[in-house]
Amino acid sequence: MSHDPNCIFCKIVAGQIPSKKAYEDEYLLAFHDINPWAPVHLLIIPKLHIASMADLHDGHAELLGRMGVLAPKLMRELGVSNGFRTVINTGPDGGQEVYHLHMHVMGGPRPWLKG
Ligand code: 5GP
Ligand code: ZN
Repeated sequence: MSHDPNCIFCKIVAGQIPSKKAYEDEYLLAFHDINPWAPVHLLIIPKLHIASMADLHDGHAELLGRMGVLAPKLMRELGVSNGFRTVINTGPDGGQEVYHLHMHVMGGPRPWLKG
């Protein structure tokens, strides 16, 4: 299924739910997480509905590559200069809540992580 009408991130792609967009092209959308865990917290998603990483196949390799290459580019553009964290939660045991593949990209100073 390329678009799932019940999927919240497909609705964001379609503009049916508003989001604070950071990037968009033919394949990908990046927007700010509604409940950020870091000063800069983006979600990078494919426009194509893929429920989770567990559903990937060989034909998706380029799409995943695009997501990986976009992350540092957007962090640079948003002024994140001291590193960032990327997370893809997969399935119930992976803590996935939204079943449309997404990469969390979190940057900015997080003093609570230093110890
Ligand atoms: P997951 O646990 O599935 O990896 O993370 C889902 C993420 O999507 C959460 O961090 C949550 O805050 C974010 N999220 C859920 N609904 C919305 C929404 O409608 N808009 C935005 N911008 N983020 C959302
Ligand atoms: Zn979707």
